[in-house]
Amino acid sequence: MNILERYHAMEYGPAPEARNEVDAWLAARDFGKALFIGGDWKAASGGKTFETSEPSSGKLLAKVSDANAADIDAAVAAATKALPKWSASSGYSRAKVLYAIGRAMQRHQRLFAVLETIDNGKPIRESRDIDVPLAIRHFIYHAGWAQALDKDFPGQKGVGVVGQIIPWNFPLLMLAWKIAPALAAGCTVVLKPAEFTPLTSILFAEICERAGVPKGVVNIVQGGPEAGAAIVNHPGIQKIAFTGSSEVGKIIRKATAGSGKKLSLELGGKSAFIVFEDADLDSAVEGLVDGIWFNQGQVCCAGSRLLVQEGIADALIAKVKTRMSRLRVGSPLDKNTDIGPLVDLTQLDRVKGLVAEGAKQGAVCWQPDAALPSSGYYHLPTLATGVSPANILAQEEVFGPVLATMTFRNTEEAIELANNTRYGLAASVWSENVNLALHVAPQLKAGVVWVNGTNMFDAACGFGGYRESGFGREGGREGMFEYLAAKLPLGPVIKPATLSAQPVEQADGSAIDRTAKLFIGGKQVRPDGNYSIAIATAKGKLVGEVGLGSRKDIRDAVSAARACKAWPEATAYNRSQVLYYLAENLSGRAGEFAARLTELTGATPKAAREEVDQSIERLFLYAGLADKFEGRVHQPPARAVTLALHEPVGVVGIVAPDTSPLLGLISLIAPALAMGNTVVAVPSERYPLLATDLYQVIEYSDVPAGAINIVTGRTAELAGVLAKHDDVDGLWVFADAETCAKAEAESIGNLKRVWSGNGRGLEWASDEAAGDTFLRRAVEVKNVWVPYGD
Ligand code: NAD
Repeated sequence: MNILERYHAMEYGPAPEARNEVDAWLAARDFGKALFIGGDWKAASGGKTFETSEPSSGKLLAKVSDANAADIDAAVAAATKALPKWSASSGYSRAKVLYAIGRAMQRHQRLFAVLETIDNGKPIRESRDIDVPLAIRHFIYHAGWAQALDKDFPGQKGVGVVGQIIPWNFPLLMLAWKIAPALAAGCTVVLKPAEFTPLTSILFAEICERAGVPKGVVNIVQGGPEAGAAIVNHPGIQKIAFTGSSEVGKIIRKATAGSGKKLSLELGGKSAFIVFEDADLDSAVEGLVDGIWFNQGQVCCAGSRLLVQEGIADALIAKVKTRMSRLRVGSPLDKNTDIGPLVDLTQLDRVKGLVAEGAKQGAVCWQPDAALPSSGYYHLPTLATGVSPANILAQEEVFGPVLATMTFRNTEEAIELANNTRYGLAASVWSENVNLALHVAPQLKAGVVWVNGTNMFDAACGFGGYRESGFGREGGREGMFEYLAAKLPLGPVIKPATLSAQPVEQADGSAIDRTAKLFIGGKQVRPDGNYSIAIATAKGKLVGEVGLGSRKDIRDAVSAARACKAWPEATAYNRSQVLYYLAENLSGRAGEFAARLTELTGATPKAAREEVDQSIERLFLYAGLADKFEGRVHQPPARAVTLALHEPVGVVGIVAPDTSPLLGLISLIAPALAMGNTVVAVPSERYPLLATDLYQVIEYSDVPAGAINIVTGRTAELAGVLAKHDDVDGLWVFADAETCAKAEAESIGNLKRVWSGNGRGLEWASDEAAGDTFLRRAVEVKNVWVPYGD
């Protein structure tokens, strides 16, 4: 045998990571007192425990206190007690605490990594080189925001006590993503880890004790869904931050509806890994190993759908199979292991079940010829080809080492296939042509896009989803806003609309000579039901009728809004000019609108004129901001830049208030339009004629057909239809409390972004009822990672 032959015949020897430190830690701890509440270690008040075991062997690791509702009460009480002092402490002192946590974690880096691997099953290489260093980076990064808070987030304050619930796939990293920004913002927290992986959070609580985190600022409770639900429903909590499945995310959205709690949801995904024919195939294959086999595919943003251009499909699949055959499946504590066990037997069974179902639906599932360890929850890396777009493996999040492959012919088809999912978390685009990659990235419905790369993360770059992958961002400046609230100038409580008139049949020759129609797709159209409602002046005299919009009219309006491409694709400069033109044309008819306001609302002529002038000013403001509320460029500690792009949310439903019926409507429509959204507006139920009078102004102002649609009618009913409509991406509701709560609860179909006034209007004339707070609601932040260098 010559040297080369000997080299190729060489086997990897075992390279086990020592576990004695972790075993000693496990042996020394009393896990029956594992609830970290108010700085003390407590047993669960119900006396219950749950078991956590080692995925690579199934052996019991610990019996951990299982919190009940009384324990959650105690944790919230501790967080509430600690809040005033913590939130009033200087940014510098909070920064020092965050920095101390980061440094203390660094000193115990190896203990964290080995413990994480033992409890979760992820290969030590990953916990050592990715999870733990990134978690530390989060604390050190957020120390900076704590200190810069007043300067960089003027007018914003921490939301208060935060309830945080995390999954088992990145136990320590998800904890860091949650706790670091909350502490920086001056919030106190009650965090519940997942029941499969409690251990690193217990070690983290020890670190908090040593790093000088004041008692009660960080509370960590252990338990399952029951403890999670107690956090979600607790009235003493002002914000819920959840990472987990879309299924539970929807339960939480519904449970918090109407509570006024701020909510962020980081949910599942079915991310596309798109390889164009000019890609560097060897790099793409390495990317794929990271994309789908990192952490055994138990990654929310796993590139679980490989979309490959037809001409290179065979060549790429052959390379992928060769590479898969070399993946080493084995003990997660071995430094050479690529694929460890799944977290639990239930997860293994779920993955096997999905693979079997995918095969039944026509997929061809291939696995390398490799032996599995004799114990533990292992699953071989699996490649599914012949997958139709409707196959369960193309649509469902498997959360295991399973890659579904499909082919595409051209760029349009690649984008269409990539977006053919109810999720929208991440995507990878592989092409040596950066023009093509940056042409595709903005068209993908995903919160993160990696160009020629995958699974790149950094504390400075926001992460989060579109669609059913949830809402809110973690990391970066945008992530800080999830724990902050602007002081908005609250207006009066909104009462349910009390329009007394019953619908009257609409007929030609009606006694009322003017019946305002709906405004859909740039045209004035009759309501589908052919009913109208009578509108009275402030003095109770009949002044006109408006169409009584129905479910069908909303559907038509949403279709028109979706079909309007001219507005979202227009340049920001172009949108700016149209908004200026709208302002100019409204100004030309200011007297008429003021008179209408007086007639309908009884406002004095002076007050009415003021409202019209303020409406014009507001249009001017957003016209000017249309090309200024821009994204950022991040420079993460990698050879990459990250473009944090501001993209429109999409089709936004707007339910406008009765108070300041013209200014309120314009204050909501204008920022949405400025950022490129198309709008379906339901104007004030009592004073809809102000909106219908706007039609002509809109028609003369070069607004593309479908960019603004207006459906008059019953607020509560139409808000409900918008909330349930799965093609509405965002919904802003300023109506009575019941309508707001229902809109939130009914939005779970596609997890649309709901902004609710919770039954309060705003002082619309105030300067604080305009600006960045509104524009931020009008955009999704997409982080596009572009690596550089050879
Ligand atoms: P899961 O939704 O079952 O559980 C997540 C957490 O919620 C756990 O702590 C669990 O105890 C708790 N929980 C369960 N039911 C609850 C209820 N009714 N009320 C309150 N809390 C409840 O998810 P999982 O199986 O632990 O994690 C896997 C999921 O997490 C995947 O869908 C994955 O995509 C997602 N995930 C998303 C991200 C992201 O950033 N988008 C990151 C990691 C994981």
